[in-house]
Parts: sequence; structure tokens; C-alpha cells
Amino acid sequence: KEAATQGHSKQRMLEKDRKYVWHHMSPHNEGPMIIVSGEGCWLTDMDGNRYYDAISGLWCVNIGYGRKEMAKAAAEQMDNVAYVPMTQAHIPGIELAERISEWLGGGYRILFSNSGSEANEAAFKIARQYFNQIGQPERHKFISRHRAYHGSSMGALAATGQAQRKMRYEPLGTGFLHVPPPYCYRCPFGQNKDSCRMECAEIYDQVMEWEGAQTVAGVILEPVITGGGMIVPPQDYMKRVKEICDKHGALLIVDEVICGYGRSGRRFGHHNFGVQPDIVTMAKGLTSAYSPLSATAVREDLYDAFRLSGGLDHFRHINTFGGNPVSCAVANKNLEIIERERLVDHASELGRRLRDRLMSLASHPYVGDIRTFGFAAGIELVEDKETKKPASSDLIAKVMTACKQRGLLIGKNGDTTPGYANVLTLAPPFVAAFEEVDWMVSTLAIALSMLPLYDGKEVGL
Ligand code: PMP
Repeated sequence: KEAATQGHSKQRMLEKDRKYVWHHMSPHNEGPMIIVSGEGCWLTDMDGNRYYDAISGLWCVNIGYGRKEMAKAAAEQMDNVAYVPMTQAHIPGIELAERISEWLGGGYRILFSNSGSEANEAAFKIARQYFNQIGQPERHKFISRHRAYHGSSMGALAATGQAQRKMRYEPLGTGFLHVPPPYCYRCPFGQNKDSCRMECAEIYDQVMEWEGAQTVAGVILEPVITGGGMIVPPQDYMKRVKEICDKHGALLIVDEVICGYGRSGRRFGHHNFGVQPDIVTMAKGLTSAYSPLSATAVREDLYDAFRLSGGLDHFRHINTFGGNPVSCAVANKNLEIIERERLVDHASELGRRLRDRLMSLASHPYVGDIRTFGFAAGIELVEDKETKKPASSDLIAKVMTACKQRGLLIGKNGDTTPGYANVLTLAPPFVAAFEEVDWMVSTLAIALSMLPLYDGKEVGL
């Protein structure tokens, strides 16, 4: 503890934090946890309190905290050469690009950036320029979904479908359209399981026709909407969207920023749905957040439209830190660890255990719906199971606080639009133990049982 706090007093640190730090999402955060160390799934704050991080930071520390070989990989690369711009080349970057293409199943060209937002911005720019170069310059529009999150920059935020994140910053990038999400629990088309004709996928066809399909550059979607409330589509949804894209000549961009690198129980989220995207964007799990890095993987034949233009129409895009050699070395080590410890398979098994245990909460009066995908889950809370009246953000905060008091950190969906901010989220590191999964769920059950409307019913644990 002494070493981790580096001799600083907590009081002094809090004073300085209050004075100088502008926190993301909570600028007036008066009492942030000051985390000083991490090991496996556990974090320790300045007072020596330990917390189990069941949301992996921001869905990103997939291999867990405190891996010494990651620190070593970074230090060694810094020692060799700390920086090379991507106008040139370096060994960790070359090796990583090959590895990413292989993880995707081959046939992709890799462009590096630093964050998920930048990876998506690059995807939009590549798609627009690609269509310019093949003589279809009017294709510029992108279709995404309400409830989706694609990043904080002006283009990625325009693709985002969450009102509260966008208002006050508008107008954003232009040419972004939204369709309703595949939200079976509250079907935007008023359908149920029996009457469903996957209108949520067919709507892309309709929108492309109404917009003029020759103006649509692509669709961007996550395999499941993660941060926006764990919205899991029907099994054939992505395949149908790809067919519609192909029919109209639009590209399918799959945002794997959260789902990629094992979270889905497969290497990539789209591998669960038998679809080959035209462009794949990735970040978080690429380095397990040990260092910032993201990538935009582009189908080789799209890249050819740039390569074969004789250098006249190259991609006019530069990113100083994108593909930093230290981050690439860290990513290579991260992927090596995931392969060596078979963490993708382990995440899949952990995910099954989590789903199984969570189902015991289904009868709880506040639990409206439980949705899982790989080793990630969303528990949608309602105040009335019949009417599905969404639980208030106050209620969600109570559950999160009760969990935290018991040493468990969980997440909530990032869509803060009133009435939509009622999904608790779990996405622990892949090094979790099965018993820890059980403990997470029983802690959640205790937290739920402390809510005011709870009538003492057994929650099945
Ligand atoms: N896409 C998705 C699906 C994300 O969850 C996020 C981040 N939460 C982003 C893009 C943006 O990533 P970043 O915060 O690294 O810019």
C-alpha cells in the first residue's frame, strides 16, 4: 500500500483533485475513488479498500490488472524506440497488423489510431473516400441505431443514438441517420416473439430506399448494443442487415470496440452471427487498456481502391500517436496472453455461468429482463413488471451503492435519457473465477432485496 500511494495523503489528493481535475461524465464528482493498484479483478483505493471490478474499468481490462509481463513489454519497447510515426513502420506495428487480420479470419488491412472514437471516425472517412474513388461520390450517409454508442467526437457522436449525449453539442457531423434498435423486450414495432418479422432489420431496406440508396455509404452497428443497455438482437439480424447493405451497395461497419477480443465468447462479436463485415473497428480489449490503441480493419479490396490509385488519392489522414510502438508491443503481448491462457474460451464458459446464475434473479419484483452476450450482461430494472415502467435512476443508484458497499463495482447503461437509464451492466475481466461469478450475482441479489418495493420474495439463491 505504501508503495502504491507513493507517500501521498488521501486528503491532499482529494483537495487537488477537486481543484484541478475535470472528470469525465461527472465534473462535480466530489468524492472519487482514488485507485492506487490493481491485481486480477481487484482494485485497491488509497484507504486500502478492495473492490471487485465487475465492469473491467469501462469494459476494457479484459486480461485483468497487474500483469507484470505487460509492463515489461511496454518498458522494453520504450527502451528500443518509444515513437515512430505511422508514415514509417515499426516491428510491433507490423506484427500486430498481421495478428489482427488473422484474428479476423484474414483479408484485412489495418489502420491504427488511439481510441474507439477515432477508429470509427477513420472508418467513416475511409468509406466516404472509397466511394469517391470508385465514382460514387454521392454516397455519404451512415445509418446507425438509436441507443447505440459509437464515440465522443463529432462524427462518432453523430452516429451515436443517445439524445442526452448529443444535446448541447449539436449540430454534429452531418449525414447520419438512425433506425430503431432490435430491442425485443420493448419492441419498437410493437411485436412479440411470435409475431416478429424482424422489422428491426427490414427497416434498413426501407430507409435506404426512402433516402435514395445511392446516397448511403454504410451502416455502423455493434454486434450487440453494449453500453446503451445490452440490447441483444435476434440471431439472424446481422446477417439480414448485411444482405440489405449488399443489395444497396452500402458497406457494413461493425464496431467491435467492446465486443471484440473475447468479450462475446468468440474472438469477435460478429463471429457469433456468421457475417463478414467490410470494416471492423476495435479498441478497448485490443490492449486490455494497458495502453491506448485502436484499429480500423478494412477489407483488402476496399484498400485496393486507394492503393491502385497510383498514390494520387491516398487516404489523407494522419494521427500522431496512432499505432504508437509501445501500445502495439503491449497489444501483441495482450493477444499472446489471451491465446496462451485460452481466455476467449474461458470468457465463454464464464458467460454461461453468469447467465445461468442471473436467471435466478428473474422472479425478483424489480427485474424486468436479463440479457447476456458472452461474458457480459444487462439487467433491466422496472418498477412494475406488467407495465414495464422503467426503474428510476435513483433506484439504479441505490443498487450500485449497495453493491459498492459490499466491495462490488458494477456498471449501468450509458444512455442517460430519462426512462432508458435503467440497465445494470456486468462485464468482468476474463480472469474471474466461477465462484466469483456466483458471488457477484448473490451480492446483486442482496442489493436488490434492499430496495423499497421488495416484498420479501425468495430470489432463488
Ligand atoms: N464504440 C463503442 C461501442 C464504445 O463502447 C466506445 C466507448 N465506450 C466507443 C466506440 C468509443 O471509444 P473511446 O472512448 O475509446 O473513444
